[in-house]
Amino acid sequence: MNAFTTNASLVLYPTEPDWVPDDPEALIIFLQAAGLAGDPLIKHENSFLAGEKFLDHISFMGCSPNIKFSDENNDGKFTFIHLTITPTITALTGKHSFAPHCPHCKKPEKNWRELLKDNQLTCSHCQQTANAWQFNWRKSAGFARCFIEITDIYPKEAIPQPLLLESLKKRFQISWGYFFIIPK
Ligand SMILES: [Zn+2]
Repeated sequence: MNAFTTNASLVLYPTEPDWVPDDPEALIIFLQAAGLAGDPLIKHENSFLAGEKFLDHISFMGCSPNIKFSDENNDGKFTFIHLTITPTITALTGKHSFAPHCPHCKKPEKNWRELLKDNQLTCSHCQQTANAWQFNWRKSAGFARCFIEITDIYPKEAIPQPLLLESLKKRFQISWGYFFIIPK
């Protein structure tokens, strides 16, 4: 996923991994109308400045978040919205991803990096195979064809408001979840 930034991100994704919007433009229009995304960023494709209602949709854990909405240090490390749509299901895992828990025996699979093949995992405890997204990654990895990345947010620094996920569901008729990623 070289389209992604080198920073940590909060990522929204549809919980049906094969889902993509019929018209990607409709997703952009939705995000801009909601005020999560603002004007397009010139330097990055499919990227948008944070919108005027960004802080209504994303709640920060700290009382005074050290959040930058523009590239004030010229290092690309600031918070913006990046949209990715891929032709096939993409595994978005990072160096911080936890050992995922097996959907059958609930035990963690420590060797997932070696065992993950074609988005499937065979559990070394119970030998059952399942789609990787059926494992519990505890919000440290995601599998989808459509990702809404919110850059420069570290794990557990901020979370999306439930109302944002609900309105995405209402508009696109699909459930949404979120995870955090620190790219490799
Ligand atoms: Zn198992």
